[in-house]
Amino acid sequence: MRRPLVVGNWKMNGCYAENKVRLNTMRGQLEQYSNVQKVVCPPFVYISETVKLLEASEINCGSQDVSEHADGAFTGEISASMLTDIGCIFAIVGHSERRQYHHETNQQIAAKAVAALKADLTPIVCVGESQQQREAEETLAVIGEQLAAVTDVLDQKDITKTVIAYEPVWAIGTGLTATPDQAQEVHAFIRRQLAKAIGNAAEEIRLLYGGSVKPDNAASLFAQKDIDGALVGGASLVTDDFAAIVEAADSV
Ligand code: PEP
Repeated sequence: MRRPLVVGNWKMNGCYAENKVRLNTMRGQLEQYSNVQKVVCPPFVYISETVKLLEASEINCGSQDVSEHADGAFTGEISASMLTDIGCIFAIVGHSERRQYHHETNQQIAAKAVAALKADLTPIVCVGESQQQREAEETLAVIGEQLAAVTDVLDQKDITKTVIAYEPVWAIGTGLTATPDQAQEVHAFIRRQLAKAIGNAAEEIRLLYGGSVKPDNAASLFAQKDIDGALVGGASLVTDDFAAIVEAADSV
């Protein structure tokens, strides 16, 4: 059985005072949903404070990115071991905003996943097609390539530890969501590709859906066989909405 996982990506939002209120509210709201693993990913500068505010709670902390390098002369970069050192457990890698605005390649994203795993940080590898690619019926080819870059450089044990998030680019922050059938089709494809790389162990890997997940569409997405939770952007900043999404995952 795969434990449902719901991850909030705060993107570049928040400040000390706002985070404190949000995290204290979340602690109260989310405690009851023990079937679900819950994670928040604040901006780097607020990770230490977030870890402190979440102490003795069942909510984990993750980062929104990680360097592919272990240490050295890489000004502005944050390494995986620095993140585990301050209490991070997960790292999002290859988010479409990093691919789009920072021109991250499939190979670089795979290197980030390797770096994360070496430091005991669980990578959440994001994959997804653009609107144009979907219309050109290239969705599975694009995702197959993004996935292969990662499975090619990891061994079976590390692939099993990795989380994959399917985030159609056209659904991120747009209010458009893949239908449960569209999402399940891609999730099933991802699991089949993973099974080609690692056999039955692919059944253990958690596959998240991301792209305008909201309280009113979460349950129908989570009802799909290969959707094990969500990577949530905008709705993770609204505590009632995030709690409703976690509740939907808890009731699957
Ligand atoms: C995201 O940033 O990963 C995301 C899915 O955003 P949103 O939920 O706002 O579409």
